Amino acid sequence: MRLCNFASGSKGNCTYIETSKSKILVDLGVNLSYVESCLKEMGLSGKDIDGIVLSHEHNDHIKGLQYFVRKYKTPVYVHNSLYEYFYFQVKDVAENLHTFADIFEINDLKIIPIDLPHDSIHCNGFKFVEKNAIASIITDCGNMTSTVYNSIKGSALVYLESNYDEEMLYACKYPTWLKKRIASKTGHLSNEDCAKVIEQLALNGTRQIILAHISENSNTPLLAYNTAKAYLHTKNIIEGVHVRIDVASQYNRDTIFKISAD
Ligand SMILES: [Zn+2]
Ligand SMILES: [Zn+2]
Repeated sequence: MRLCNFASGSKGNCTYIETSKSKILVDLGVNLSYVESCLKEMGLSGKDIDGIVLSHEHNDHIKGLQYFVRKYKTPVYVHNSLYEYFYFQVKDVAENLHTFADIFEINDLKIIPIDLPHDSIHCNGFKFVEKNAIASIITDCGNMTSTVYNSIKGSALVYLESNYDEEMLYACKYPTWLKKRIASKTGHLSNEDCAKVIEQLALNGTRQIILAHISENSNTPLLAYNTAKAYLHTKNIIEGVHVRIDVASQYNRDTIFKISAD
């Protein structure tokens, strides 16, 4: 399995996942021209995409969806609680909508939806399985519950939200209601929350973390990385030795991660 971040953060989210027989996008919160340019850099076109799997209906995850689907007629997969929203509220996707409530497959890629606590109609993280290769995506998650954690435990790679630094959030210029929303149990995961999750994942076999959905106003990529690295160090988990941590970019396509089936 291969995974590549195209964009991550409140300005737009899109991740590419490929197996031997399946090529999908998770979320399409970027412009059509941008996602096409990312695909082109990888020798692909929009026609090659077998499905778009959506986490939830917030704009930063679906902004470019209707334009992509209008052009390529790509099947769109949403949780069944989101069917009506997409059918009636999002143009040009109704004919291509598919719903899931539980595990489903796109060719040889098995997709296990994970319900996340987030202030949307419904929000999903996902575990992706190709034979023994397992990768998970968890963003827009206000609280790492034991159910969510147990669902992703054992993944070789986890693309994990590290949204805000607690001090920067309280000091930033956001209105109080927004700060409360972000920090609530249905908002986003902080750097500190994320670091504790990485500790547990690393102790259970995860070898690659991609820090994702980093806020531009209450976090920086370096701060997210350093917070995780320093916390893990206090637990004798060394970044680069026991677990590798990379940071997902907002505006650039990142390197391709290979998840081997071992
Ligand atoms: Zn959201
Ligand atoms: Zn989001």
